[in-house]
Amino acid sequence: MPKRIVTTSENVSHKKQKTFHWSSGLVQAVQNPELLVLSDDLVYVIKDKYPKSQCHFLIICKKDIGSLSDVKIEDIDLLKHMNEMAEKMKKSNDEYRSFNVGYHAEPSMSRLHLHVISDDMDSSHLKTKKHWNSFTTEFFISSEVVIENLIKNKKVILPSKEECRKFLELPLKCHKCDFKPKNMPDLKKHIVNHC
Ligand code: AMP
Ligand code: ZN
Repeated sequence: MPKRIVTTSENVSHKKQKTFHWSSGLVQAVQNPELLVLSDDLVYVIKDKYPKSQCHFLIICKKDIGSLSDVKIEDIDLLKHMNEMAEKMKKSNDEYRSFNVGYHAEPSMSRLHLHVISDDMDSSHLKTKKHWNSFTTEFFISSEVVIENLIKNKKVILPSKEECRKFLELPLKCHKCDFKPKNMPDLKKHIVNHC
């Protein structure tokens, strides 16, 4: 059944929170009308405040789920809905040629969120090797793979801490060709050739 889409800040709680930790920033961010794009019964869609590409959205679930490691098999329809919302965001932003849709294996921010990110990776906010590798290696797990993983295992099996560390420390490599840059400035100069 189609979910009702709300394009204003309707549905957003304005209750002041007593304690605030930076990692709960996404739960706060949905209250910011400059970031909120839309919401429905199950999710908020916001613009990433520090976009790592020309177009970068986050689909944030309303249910109090911290991250993929807290997802249970009964959340399968929610994950499918988040994926469908990502598809809608891709369609309504089709001036960007292609998008990647996925989760970070070890997110820094709490409340389950799905990245919808155009694949140019051309952004002044993308500064470090960790940023780069978090979107271009197996640290970034596609939404469809997560859904298959949940159906097969009844929970989401994630890479270990050690594997995550290795993904983030991999040598820099262009995500579109075999170019191996010396450093981030070198990579950033190179990727604009693919835009
Ligand atoms: P993750 O590593 O998957 O937890 O990614 C968290 C994402 O949230 C990053 O892409 C950040 O740029 C973004 N972010 C961090 N703080 C905020 C905020 N206050 N509002 C909106 N987006 C944020
Ligand atoms: Zn390249």
